[in-house]
Amino acid sequence: GAPIVPIAPAVRTTCPYCGVGCGVKATPMADGALIEGDPEHMASRGRLCVKGSALGETLGLDGRLLAPAMREEGSLRTADWDEALDKVASTFASIIAEHGPDAVALYVSGQLLTEDYYVANKFMKGFVGSANIDTNSRLCMSSSVAGHKRAFGEDIVPGCYEDFELADLVVLVGSNTAWCHPTLFQRITKAREARPGLRIVAIDPRRTATCELADLHLPIKAGSDVWLFNGLLVYLAQTGAVDADFVATHTQGLDGALAAAAECVDIGFVARSCGIDARLVAEFYEAFAATAKVVTAYSQGVNQSSSGTDKVNAIINCHLLSGRVGKPGMGPFSLTGQPNAMGGREVGGLANMLASHLELDQPAHRELVRGFWDAPRMAANPGLKAVELFRAIEEGSVKAVWIMATNPVVSLPDADQVRRALARCELVVVSDMTAATDTAELADVLLPALGWGEKDGTVTNSERCISRQRAFLQAPGQARADWWAICEVARRMGYQGFDYMDAHAIFDEHARLSGWRNDAQGAPRAFRIDGLAGLDRAAYDALAPIQWPVPPGGEGTARLFADGGYAHADGKARFVATRPRLPANAAGGDYPLTLNTGRLRDQWHTMTRTGKSPRLAGHAPEPFVDMHPHDALLAGVREGELARVRSRWGSLVARVSHGGGIARGSAFVPIHWTGQNASDARVGAVVNPVVDPVSGEPEFKHTPVRVEPFALA
Ligand code: SF4
Repeated sequence: GAPIVPIAPAVRTTCPYCGVGCGVKATPMADGALIEGDPEHMASRGRLCVKGSALGETLGLDGRLLAPAMREEGSLRTADWDEALDKVASTFASIIAEHGPDAVALYVSGQLLTEDYYVANKFMKGFVGSANIDTNSRLCMSSSVAGHKRAFGEDIVPGCYEDFELADLVVLVGSNTAWCHPTLFQRITKAREARPGLRIVAIDPRRTATCELADLHLPIKAGSDVWLFNGLLVYLAQTGAVDADFVATHTQGLDGALAAAAECVDIGFVARSCGIDARLVAEFYEAFAATAKVVTAYSQGVNQSSSGTDKVNAIINCHLLSGRVGKPGMGPFSLTGQPNAMGGREVGGLANMLASHLELDQPAHRELVRGFWDAPRMAANPGLKAVELFRAIEEGSVKAVWIMATNPVVSLPDADQVRRALARCELVVVSDMTAATDTAELADVLLPALGWGEKDGTVTNSERCISRQRAFLQAPGQARADWWAICEVARRMGYQGFDYMDAHAIFDEHARLSGWRNDAQGAPRAFRIDGLAGLDRAAYDALAPIQWPVPPGGEGTARLFADGGYAHADGKARFVATRPRLPANAAGGDYPLTLNTGRLRDQWHTMTRTGKSPRLAGHAPEPFVDMHPHDALLAGVREGELARVRSRWGSLVARVSHGGGIARGSAFVPIHWTGQNASDARVGAVVNPVVDPVSGEPEFKHTPVRVEPFALA
């Protein structure tokens, strides 16, 4: 065939999918781009997983939204940007004038770049005067945010990816790392090949691909993690696997945590509570106690629970007791799901946070940010969290919502309620790359957003590494950056301070705020990137991956907290007393199975991008419900047949499968399919809308369901 000829030099950028944040070298070609791993990126060293390496297949323009559109008498018509932005600004302004600032909301996404996220938060929290801006990161890692804040005083992952290679024991809790953070899993695999003494423990109700590599798999009952880690805390205390100096000097609250865990002194009790053999519990405890270098990494199986925050703290407690925090090869480690879940947190992306890791509920912090922004109306109270927000829309107290880069009609729990809410909302604005989503179908105004390869800005991965996403493709049609659309609406509403020329100017303001805050307050907060303030445009364009904190003159920071310095006022970390509790809704009666949900290896979220690659679709071409053959027999369904999965909240249609290492009494459905498929397979329609009381994160891993033979309605 004809030689493949690049049309421009390769551009270094960052993968837009999972929180590993791999470096990508993209070389523009006449018909797309050649995608390779970036050997110089610290997160991945040239590795890409199957999703990342298929990025070139997802760049086509079919299905792209290329111009703004507005709904008129039920149908969408193309509009120009001025008309669409005028409509958004005037409706927001009139609703705020009549009903107050809390009657409008933004619902954004861990897919946004940090610069988009920063401007969205400034707009809502400083100028509209409401904290009703939440994000789909609420569904993903808000329990880790809350757990970090309780333990460390600030939302911080203390370690880095290298720790997985340096550890002698890697404990993976509620994380199918092999599929959901694949290149990090490759690093663990390679480290184990080089050093066979590295042991791996997988804690997961399902026997996932990750368990294949594990030396020990603990198939605990869904939701029983706090029993397991409370038992470990007591075991460590009793066997003397304690760093007494570290505990005395750098922590508080151990007695309360041990008292809350006291019932777990009996390994037999822990084993019964977790539904596993006591020998597995004992083997895990012995390995943890005997190994100095332990990393405990956790993901959605921990976070997505009505006791998610307690699970996070139960894990961190064990690392505090043994002094294994922020040292090479040891520490608790939250694996974030999305590419920029961390960057969003840096700019206050959740409804209860402020920019620069400041707290919305602290008057001094609010005043500090108000002064920096010269903001006319600072939000005074935390806003509505994701599930509450869509309830408020249905109830009518929130009358306008602007949704960016996310698809809540598929992804939120009780998703039929979300659909009802948007159907009755006065103004639904959707910024996206496509109009073909279940959420965009309900939009009154559709705004064409830039996609990966067209956007310019930064993202932060799970190890606090800030990386540039760089544009290497022309923006198609009239697609524009999300920050630009927000600034245009802000200007139309008469707000000052939204005249950024580019993403670089926004990043500079964000970086300056982090230093200004430290200067103004002398606060012991770790998040600071003022070492990156004042970069000129060329230096920002050339910015190499760097881990925050980045103080002036600093070079980035791989690890924190080995010698204390926590963000609580006394500089000490906190043990948190965690009392185990069962998931909110138990299976039984009409709904005898416990539904678990999660990602597949080759798809991303609701497939608007990965769905374009036939290669990726080949792994799992259609929605399925994985269940044990015995449960299938009882339900009257057979492998390969269509079935309906039904809960008290809704139903979906999927094909029965027996492939996924599922225990009796459980079922698993992937999160990716939508109402746009031949059958409605939105898992959100089935999931219970129960949330963790501290973090507001929904319990995606535990919904009572039944499976029925499929019958046409
Ligand atoms: Fe992208 Fe995650 Fe795969 Fe890396 S591991 S290539 S960040 S999806």
